[in-house]
Amino acid sequence: MYTLEELVLYAKSYGFIYQGSEIYGGLANTYDYGPLGALLKNNIKSAWLKSFYVKENNVLLDSSILLNSLVWKASGHTSNFSDPLTECKSCHQRYRADKLIEEIDKTINVDTLSFKDMDEYLLSHKVKCPSCGESNFDNIKSFNMMFKTYQGVVEESANMIFLRPETAQGIFINFKNIARTSRKKIPFGVCQVGKSFRNEITPGNFIFRTREFEQMELEFFCKPHTEKKWFNYYRNKMCKFLLSLGIKKDNFKIYDHPKEALSHYSNATSDIVFNFPWGFDELWGIASRTDFDLKAHQTLSGEDLSYLDSDDNSKYIPYVVEPSLGVERLLLATLFNGLEDETLPNNDTRTVLHISPVLAPYKVAIFPLNKKEQGAHASKIFKKLSQKYSVLYDETGSIGKRYRRADAIGVPFCVTFDFETKDTSTVTIRYRDTMIQERVKISSLNRIIEKSLITKE
Ligand code: ATP
Repeated sequence: MYTLEELVLYAKSYGFIYQGSEIYGGLANTYDYGPLGALLKNNIKSAWLKSFYVKENNVLLDSSILLNSLVWKASGHTSNFSDPLTECKSCHQRYRADKLIEEIDKTINVDTLSFKDMDEYLLSHKVKCPSCGESNFDNIKSFNMMFKTYQGVVEESANMIFLRPETAQGIFINFKNIARTSRKKIPFGVCQVGKSFRNEITPGNFIFRTREFEQMELEFFCKPHTEKKWFNYYRNKMCKFLLSLGIKKDNFKIYDHPKEALSHYSNATSDIVFNFPWGFDELWGIASRTDFDLKAHQTLSGEDLSYLDSDDNSKYIPYVVEPSLGVERLLLATLFNGLEDETLPNNDTRTVLHISPVLAPYKVAIFPLNKKEQGAHASKIFKKLSQKYSVLYDETGSIGKRYRRADAIGVPFCVTFDFETKDTSTVTIRYRDTMIQERVKISSLNRIIEKSLITKE
C-alpha cells in the first residue's frame, strides 16, 4: 500500500487533488479537486446514489446549507456538537484530547471518557505534546465545531447563523413535506448529497479530516421497533456496496460501538473502518437514531411531525436509521485500495490504479497508433463513445508510454487504432489489470464498456 506521502504526491502529479489556494501560499487543510479528482468524486456520488437511492426506491432531497438556527438548537448541535480541546501550555498548539489518548492506547474507548477522565489520563501518563515534546496540557474545554457566519449586512449576534455540520437535519425538517408530496409510505428513505462544514480542531491526514467536505447521507424512516431490522439491512448493504466497488475485503471491517458508548439518542451505532496507512479509521458510520430528531423538531417548532400509518391506522413518530459517508473519505480509501507500483515480468515497473470501472475517471482510452494514419478514424469513435462515457484521447508518445499513463490513472481499457483497423474495422483492446491484449470489432466496444459497469451488489 502507498504511504500517505506517496499518495499525496501521486494525487497532485496526476491531477486528482491540489493544495487549496496554492498560488497564494495555500490555505491550511483545504484542497481543490483537479480534472481527475472531480471526475472521481462525481463517479463516487453517482455510484452511491444508484445504490442507495435508485435501487432502494428511496427519494432525494437537496436542502440548504444555511438553516434557521433553531434547527441546530433542536438537534442539540448548539449545545453538544463539540470536541474536547486541550492546549499545550508550552507551545500553545491545540489538540483534540480524545485523539491524543487514542494515539497512545488504541484499546481505550475514548467515547466513554469524561473531560475529567481525559485530563487525568494526560497528566498521569505524562502525555507529550506532538509539537514541542513537553507534558504540559491545559484543562480540557468543550469546543463547538459549527462554523459561524452572519446573514445580511449587519454582523451582530442576532444575525448569526451556521454552515451546516451535516446534511441530515435538512432532511428531518423536511420530513413532513417529503412524506406528503412524494406519497411514499413508511418505510422509506431520503438521500442527500452535499457539503458540510466542521471547524475541526485537528484536521489532517490529507483529505481524511477537513473542515469542508461532502457527505452522502440516507435517513431511513421506519416504524418503531422495526429499526433493528433496517439497521442490520443497511449495515450489510454498506459492506456489499464497498465490495462491489472493488474495495478489498481485508481492507475494511465493522466496528460495533459498545452499548455504554452510544450517544444518548442512539440504540445502535457501527462504523466501517478502513485500513488507512495510519491504521484502521472511520470511513462510514451508521446509527439507529430512534425518534430523537423528529421529536426534537416537533417540540421546538410546534409542528406535528407524526405519521399516520394507513396499514393499521396507527400514528407515530418514525424511527430513523442513518448511514452517513464522506465522499472524500471513500475517494481516499479507493486510492489507497487500488494504487500499486507493480514490477512486470521484464523487470519494468508500472504504476497502476486498480479501480472499479464504475469509479474510474475515464472509462476507456483511445489511441491512434499513428496520428496521420488513424487520427481521423480514432477521433470519430472517440466522439461517439464520449456521448456516453468520459473517454481519454491520447495521440502523443509511444504506445507503451500511453499505456503507462492510462494505467496510472486507472483507465480500465486502452483501445489502439492501428494499420489493420481501416480494412478490418477492428482495434486492439488492452485490459488494465491483466495487460492482456486482444483484437475486437469496433462495434463491440460499447458492449465491453457497458458490461464492465454492471456491479454485483
Ligand atoms: P470522526 O470521528 O472521524 O470525526 P464522526 O463520527 O464525527 O467522524 P459523523 O458525524 O458520523 O463522523 O459523519 C459521518 C461521515 O462523514 C463520517 O463517517 C465521514 O465519512 C464523514 N466525515 C465526518 N467528518 C469529516 C471531516 N471532518 N472530513 C471529512 N469527512 C468527514
